[in-house]
Amino acid sequence: MHGATATSTACRRGAFGTTHARRLLDLIVIGPGGATLAQRLAPTGKQILMLERGNFLERAPDTRNPREVSIDNAHQANETWYDKGGMASHPDPHYFVGGNSKMYGAALFRLRECDFERLEHAEGISPEWPLKYDVFAPYRDQAAHQASTARFGTDPATSVLDLDGKAYEPDNLYVVDASYFPSIGAVNRTLTIIANALRVADRIAERLG
Ligand SMILES: Cc1cc2nc3c(=O)[nH]c(=O)nc-3n(C[C@H](O)[C@H](O)[C@H](O)COP(=O)(O)OP(=O)(O)OC[C@H]3O[C@@H](n4cnc5c(N)ncnc54)[C@H](O)[C@@H]3O)c2cc1C
Repeated sequence: MHGATATSTACRRGAFGTTHARRLLDLIVIGPGGATLAQRLAPTGKQILMLERGNFLERAPDTRNPREVSIDNAHQANETWYDKGGMASHPDPHYFVGGNSKMYGAALFRLRECDFERLEHAEGISPEWPLKYDVFAPYRDQAAHQASTARFGTDPATSVLDLDGKAYEPDNLYVVDASYFPSIGAVNRTLTIIANALRVADRIAERLG
């Protein structure tokens, strides 16, 4: 998203590396960021090496403080990039395991169908994409699905929690984080998570008597 160095790059076997690496590795992911590519390919059992230039960002109050992260840019790399015409820009790279994907604010806007077409804005023209809305739509739905890792429902074939947030098994396990969502139709979900936790707490209190 921010140019060559900040984009996950996959190299096929034999593209580079030592003889040893060529023999053992199927894929090298350079700059894994959100690591979606590796997550998708992990079940294939292929040998995947992930190369990350940054270190782990320390867990500390300042690394979780929105002002420090988003306004003071305290963890950004202090870099100036230049285009071929010499024009300087300041992208906002965070060189850590997880990259910018670790720092992001969780607003997940969907591009509209018209955003994939040639579009005139006040500041200029956004050119037409070579692939359109329909191509990305099913994958975007799968991306949203990743949040629904412990869906609630009425059918054990398609859910792991009943409508009280209780696992079908074991009988004494309740899940009240965002994973119960069967789908995510809007970006700001925390209030609904809290509301559901209160609702499930009432069910647990009834059960405990
Ligand atoms: C504070 C903040 C808030 C944001 N909020 C939102 C939001 O709410 N919604 C939204 O949609 N977007 C948001 N964004 C933008 C979003 O985070 C990025 O667009 C997205 O994470 C970019 O993903 P990526 O995979 O392209 O890059 P990254 O996630 O940055 O991954 C790139 C990785 O490559 C590594 N790397 C770079 N060079 C090399 C190299 N030479 N060798 C090895 N590894 C290398 C980096 O260290 C990094 O881990 C936010 C960004 C920031 C900083």
